[in-house]
Amino acid sequence: MAIRTVVWGENVHEHKNRIVAGVYPQGMHQTIADALNQDDAIEATTATLQEPEHGLPKERLARTDVLLWWGHAAHGDVQDEVVERVAEAVWGGMGLLVLHSGHFSKIFKRLMGAPCNLTWREAGEKERLWVTSRNHPIAAGLPDHFELEQEEMYGEPFGVPEPLETVFVSWFQGGEVFRSGLTYKRGAGSVFYFRPGHETYPTYHDANVQLVLRNAVKWAYNPAPRQADPTKAPNVPVEAALEPIQERGPKLHHAGEEGYR
Ligand code: ZN
Repeated sequence: MAIRTVVWGENVHEHKNRIVAGVYPQGMHQTIADALNQDDAIEATTATLQEPEHGLPKERLARTDVLLWWGHAAHGDVQDEVVERVAEAVWGGMGLLVLHSGHFSKIFKRLMGAPCNLTWREAGEKERLWVTSRNHPIAAGLPDHFELEQEEMYGEPFGVPEPLETVFVSWFQGGEVFRSGLTYKRGAGSVFYFRPGHETYPTYHDANVQLVLRNAVKWAYNPAPRQADPTKAPNVPVEAALEPIQERGPKLHHAGEEGYR
């Protein structure tokens, strides 16, 4: 069975800015989904902010293997309930790819537990991405470096926790550098942050970028069944201990009582 993938798009700039609408007439999310669907191993559909529950009701997330997230102007409009639902899906084993300005999305900040801030400049600079982890599956089939003729600059320091792996580092024409491909594990879920993707440039039409996204979907896919309740914290009563023990000393909790959250 193909990897069930949902590309979530904020879908705001495409309707408000003529340049963005020209570069992505069907929306950035659709362009990304089309690029993913070039691979028979992936079956990508889209969801947007404007749909009920932002297109991510519980049942749909339950049958999503990998979710991609592009947001920018409307991070604050994403319902907290949906953010928490996505976080639980990741903790339960769903893969998550956070793209470009998604670094400031509620879901990314929730999962990173950090400010996720960076420096930036919108000046159409050249970006050169270097592969820093040559044998990483996300870099499969790529040259040692590739360039995007025009991109927004994101610079260090990037306010994220130290990643598991750094797959790409970017250099920009103005001199800044940035860790542009980072992997994380959150609960049972694999998370990949990928930097390029400013809305006014044709980044998601680029063959190397599309290959990174297809590779990343396959990398983030977790074939194990989703953990049903990844935040549960059950009490183990004395009589259920693996070795016989005698209860002793003072205690605060009563038998069968829920723990504090
Ligand atoms: Zn941008």
